[in-house]
Amino acid sequence: MFAQVFGSCTFGLNGYVITVEVDIHRGAPDFDIVGLPAVSVKESKERVHAAIRNSGYALPVDKITVNLAPADLKKDGSGLDLPIAIGLLTSAGVIPQEAVDKFMFIGELSLQGEIRPVPGILSMVLSGKEAGIHTFFMSPDVAGEALLCDDVTVYAPKTLGELVEYLLGHESMTPAVRRETPPTTINDVDFAEVQGQIMAKRAMEIAAAGAHNVLMTGPPGSGKTMLARRITTILPPMTREEALEVTKIYSVAGLFKAEDIIRERPFRSPHHTISMAGLIGGGTIPRPGEVTLSHRGVLFLDELPEFPRAVLEVLRQPLEDREVHISRVNASFVYPSDFILITAMNPCPCGYLGDPQHACTCSDGEIRSYSRKISGPLLDRIDLYVSVMRPKYSELTAVVKGEPSVDIAKRVAEARAVQSERLATWHMQSNAQMGHKQLRETCQLDKEGSELLREVFEKLHLSARSYDRIIKVSRTIADLNGSVNIQPEHVAEALSYRNMIQRR
Ligand SMILES: [Zn+2]
Repeated sequence: MFAQVFGSCTFGLNGYVITVEVDIHRGAPDFDIVGLPAVSVKESKERVHAAIRNSGYALPVDKITVNLAPADLKKDGSGLDLPIAIGLLTSAGVIPQEAVDKFMFIGELSLQGEIRPVPGILSMVLSGKEAGIHTFFMSPDVAGEALLCDDVTVYAPKTLGELVEYLLGHESMTPAVRRETPPTTINDVDFAEVQGQIMAKRAMEIAAAGAHNVLMTGPPGSGKTMLARRITTILPPMTREEALEVTKIYSVAGLFKAEDIIRERPFRSPHHTISMAGLIGGGTIPRPGEVTLSHRGVLFLDELPEFPRAVLEVLRQPLEDREVHISRVNASFVYPSDFILITAMNPCPCGYLGDPQHACTCSDGEIRSYSRKISGPLLDRIDLYVSVMRPKYSELTAVVKGEPSVDIAKRVAEARAVQSERLATWHMQSNAQMGHKQLRETCQLDKEGSELLREVFEKLHLSARSYDRIIKVSRTIADLNGSVNIQPEHVAEALSYRNMIQRR
């Protein structure tokens, strides 16, 4: 007998409805799954068979064919166990076809017949909804995630047996309900905790306001990580659309455990031993890497020279395009990667170059080869260079607290609003996104400003690229100060954040 049920799997960040067709007919006993299944799907045969048997149902000893449609899409993951099991029981005549017609089933099965959670629920349920399916069955562990979608009914049976009895009308089941959690936007860190560090804090504010990339240099213990960690507390809150997008990413990556959408901007700080795949995404069906997990938030790379050059080189493309392209044999994947890059390094191998309290023990050659470890193309994409000094004793013991994040965030939000209005024609939201064209059209310098810039350029032999960068940062500083035009003092401040790293 022929049966058909709906399941889903993810491909990249999107979910796709999979039609599971099952045919059981007379013939030598055999079990075949066709329709481009990955190894993980082929393995479901064993799990499904055992789960059905251990739930107290029997399948006829005949030839079984399972077809997964559409055939051109590679199916990965164990989430198709459940629809395959339901399809088999329907084909075997245990469940009538009309009892499963309009539903979607998602889940892995244990050998005993328990329904287990799988990653990517949000994307899968959205795909079902788009196809006109409104009722979903899955593990209780992920029902909350499915309920982030509006207008869906979610049932969360613990076992295959419970589910079958419900579909047969033998048992009742109440739909899962969304647990209302109050939005938690209270940050566990705050800029108020950072004493002194006026210049570095100002640099963080500019970076947040214009979405600029930063490189901090400073001795160990100067508070670089502390500063980086707090930048998400001054970025504007995510829109619901952005929050859903980020939640989808974490769901597909198997990192979403909460019951509410992710409202806080991501902050990721991978260790320098991270692999290329870990950074940009990897696997046969690639999982999102750190650049995608930082989407709409911050990617922090501490001890930048310790990262292998090859690993840093792969950051170029996602930084440039704000999305990452990963090619595989049968497909190519595109993941979003729009993040602010914050990097940090010691000024030299021993860490004390320029420190008034410690003498640096490095030779000139050591210092040069240390900064040469960082890839030039990566440095080209840094907008703000800032040196962070260890706070003075008087600053650490000061009773006066630093300015709280919420006040800085207000200025950042205002500056962002001005930018997205000015750049609306090009669908851009921040100054960092500007290309040469937008720069020419929206960044007018007055006479004094241009003269100052010309003088500095001639004196310091700056490149065209650094020229653009300084203008962009000046634009953001002007926006923070509520100024329509870029004034000389804005240019002067931007110049104080230019690249001071010696590379030769
Ligand atoms: Zn040193």
